[in-house]
Amino acid sequence: MDFALSPEHEEIRRTVRDFAERRIAPVVDELEREGKFPHEIIREAASLGLLGVPSYAITIEELSRVSGSVGIIVSAHTSLGCNPLYLAGTQAQKDQYLRPLASGEKLGAYGLTEPGAGSDSRGTRTRAQREGDCWVLNGSKRFITNAGVADTYIITALTEREAESGRISAFIVEAGTPGFSIGRIEEKMGLHASKTGELLFEDCRIPVENLLGEEGKGDKLFLRTLDGGRIGIGAMALGLAQAAFEAASAYARQREQFGKPIAAFQGIAFMIADMATEIDAARLMVYRAAWLKDRGRPYTTEAAMAKLYASEVAARVTDAAIQVHGGYGYVTEYKVERYLRDAKLTEIGEGTSQIQRLVIARNLLGVRAS
Ligand SMILES: Cc1cc2nc3c(=O)[nH]c(=O)nc-3n(C[C@H](O)[C@H](O)[C@H](O)COP(=O)(O)OP(=O)(O)OC[C@H]3O[C@@H](n4cnc5c(N)ncnc54)[C@H](O)[C@@H]3O)c2cc1C
Repeated sequence: MDFALSPEHEEIRRTVRDFAERRIAPVVDELEREGKFPHEIIREAASLGLLGVPSYAITIEELSRVSGSVGIIVSAHTSLGCNPLYLAGTQAQKDQYLRPLASGEKLGAYGLTEPGAGSDSRGTRTRAQREGDCWVLNGSKRFITNAGVADTYIITALTEREAESGRISAFIVEAGTPGFSIGRIEEKMGLHASKTGELLFEDCRIPVENLLGEEGKGDKLFLRTLDGGRIGIGAMALGLAQAAFEAASAYARQREQFGKPIAAFQGIAFMIADMATEIDAARLMVYRAAWLKDRGRPYTTEAAMAKLYASEVAARVTDAAIQVHGGYGYVTEYKVERYLRDAKLTEIGEGTSQIQRLVIARNLLGVRAS
């Protein structure tokens, strides 16, 4: 057994940390305050090759340590925008759509969620009707990361043939296609520099070749897509927890009360010790899931466990970091309140904690828990 990262992984960490601290840290507060999408930062990340990293846990962890928004933008682009094309695309689709996405020339997004289809994709109402050499899309998607800033969208819809079975299909839609527009952009609790919004389809005609994978096989594709995506969200949780831990440790050493640094009080020191222990366990779980994926081994259960645990650790650690800061943790001048707001998403996106428990239980017990 070897727990050491390879020299290549260490190099990725150094490169991403340096980029995040040099380019993102100085502007992160402004981006979050003003809800500005970080176009320039994403372009620079692309030039470093960070938008086409298939084994990307360390990249997302390091980006999220400085900005949860940049973490989720890159995570959604890679695991949700690129991966379905990688998994199910024809060579022509890969050449046309995946290459520019992986090089970072274009940004990707993925639309599965609808007003009536959240945890349960069987509520999908978006329709794809075949007309000659086109698919005609009608319907809407909700809560889509990178809505309005992405160039290429992978979306799910029900075709006429599969309307009875309820098995969805996946399609590739380019920004600017007539009949495709962006609806409301949400105002969120956190992750303000990332965009989350509605996709609207009104008689949107796309070429028949833009069906991704086989008709009616979209469910299988999105389950595989989400398996990988959960490693990304786990890594995002890890980066946010790490940032909160570092802030809390530094503050505890520097802040004095009762004539000594608050780190000297067991009540504080033990909180810091618990944070470090839980982050360490979460990191091992996220890296193990990524390691299994890289080796082509089954990793559905491990990815769900890693995402579940890391996101709940992030919620606890970011909350404790505020406590360590006392009143200073509650005001926006110190960054820790942002970590808590950003971390909450990791318990919801790409399957809520309840859904992760369903996936884990189902795989362990072999019965369909509901
Ligand atoms: C910032 C943000 C970014 C997002 N990005 C994307 C994206 O890029 N693409 C995309 O397709 N979607 C995206 N989503 C949507 C996200 O994946 C969904 O919000 C999530 O899957 C939950 O769906 P829902 O919100 O409809 O909640 P619901 O499914 O309505 O769940 C409500 C509550 O019921 C619980 N629940 C539901 N079913 C069960 C069950 N069987 N057993 C126990 N509890 C259950 C849930 O855990 C939750 O607590 C994003 C959401 C947010 C907030």
